[in-house]
Amino acid sequence: MDNNTFTFDENKWSSLKKDLKKTVGDTAYNNWLKHLNYVSFEETSITFSVPTKFLRDWIVNNYSDKIKNETKKYIKKIDIIKFVVKPSGGRIVPGTTRTIKSSDNHWKSTLDVRSNQTSNYPNEFGAPLDPRFTFDNFVVGKPNELAFAASQRVSEADKITFNPLFLCGGVGLGKTHLMHAIGWKIKQKQPDRKVIYLSAEKFMYQFVRALRYKDTSAFKEQFRSIDVLMIDDVQFISGKDNTQEEFFHTFNALIEQNKQIVISADKSPTDLDGVQERLKSRLGCGLVADIHPTTYELRLGILIEKAQKRGVEIPPKVLEFLSHRIISNVREMEGALNRLVAHGTLVGTPITIETAQLVLQDLLKSSNKKITIEEIQKKVAEHFNIRITDMHSPRRSRSVARPRQIAMYLAKSITSRSLPEIGRKFGGRDHTTVMHAVKKIEELKLADINFNEDLELLKRLIDS
Ligand code: ADP
Ligand code: MG
Repeated sequence: MDNNTFTFDENKWSSLKKDLKKTVGDTAYNNWLKHLNYVSFEETSITFSVPTKFLRDWIVNNYSDKIKNETKKYIKKIDIIKFVVKPSGGRIVPGTTRTIKSSDNHWKSTLDVRSNQTSNYPNEFGAPLDPRFTFDNFVVGKPNELAFAASQRVSEADKITFNPLFLCGGVGLGKTHLMHAIGWKIKQKQPDRKVIYLSAEKFMYQFVRALRYKDTSAFKEQFRSIDVLMIDDVQFISGKDNTQEEFFHTFNALIEQNKQIVISADKSPTDLDGVQERLKSRLGCGLVADIHPTTYELRLGILIEKAQKRGVEIPPKVLEFLSHRIISNVREMEGALNRLVAHGTLVGTPITIETAQLVLQDLLKSSNKKITIEEIQKKVAEHFNIRITDMHSPRRSRSVARPRQIAMYLAKSITSRSLPEIGRKFGGRDHTTVMHAVKKIEELKLADINFNEDLELLKRLIDS
């Protein structure tokens, strides 16, 4: 091979990926290395990207040897391997490079010195809008007509009529859908108005970080150019006193500057627990639009619309059956429909009430699927590539202790088991150990957005 003309390209990258899959095995590959992307190559160094810092650290700490060995087969003179953080759909985050370097045949890992600083935070502000969540795709009925009309008004008016718009309703009833729809509509009709959508947790996280780095003025500065600010799921700000205080002031300042604010929560402002009275009344001083639990008619309407969008024929009787039987929320209903359609196309049988009953057995039995601690332990162990017995073992090394703590935390937040019960399932640990784990994970969640994202991903894996 002539080194002067050697290049590393996408083709080589795909066969390198196949090799990696072979060496680490399917599970580890799918959990971790699948997220690795090729960025660039220069003579003796190659750069890969991963979507989060958490993944970067995990991969470097656990797989750098294997990656090095496999890469060497393609690039003999390889000397430096770099890992940078690049959120999916985003750009490379500055200051996040971790480098592993070969010197005297001994590979060392170093972290870019800037990686613990906050230099990247303006890029992280706001979250992308989901293209499926538009007004066109939203089915209107009695339970959501006020929220729908108010959301449309906010997205069309040049003048602000109510501020804030507060959307409240239970899980899976369309709050997030409406907020994204507002965002899309404004982008389409008034592209020079700047809209930011983000979760309350992310908003709080930005606050905490700004406070920690004594940079609240820079934080507030970011809002100056925003015309519409949407914050989803504000029930999550409850209890965090000093951040609430800051939130309150920023909130007032924005309203004074005539910025439209849209808020959502699973309860009305007055019912929010752990939120200061002052903030509650401020949140409720615009329009509070309730989204009520779905009715049979609305559920049927939504199912008809969703079936049409997918271009599948489902007998009306089956749709009626589903609308009767799955009443908890729209998200669950959509899941049921997806499953039914998938079954129909895979097996090739017509969709009938009987097949629906068969395929959706678990959903129909109880709309609230019960998740067991054992399932959580299994999923978490798989995700972190440790043995399931490590969930019960006394080993304290961090590589098993942290996943174990995560599993305890998830057991506490997903199941209705008590702390002592959870402790027993983790090798007879004391309830205070579980409590400590829950606290630790909560701290990490707040301090590290990447960790938080990884945890959300795990939750979703377990829920599905
Ligand atoms: P929430 O934020 O209130 O928990 P979401 O907005 O995430 O709920 O809605 C859950 C799912 O149900 C989404 O896929 C959304 O598109 C769908 N959905 C909810 N309400 C409606 C509706 N009225 N019409 C169409 N889809 C809906
Ligand atoms: Mg939501």
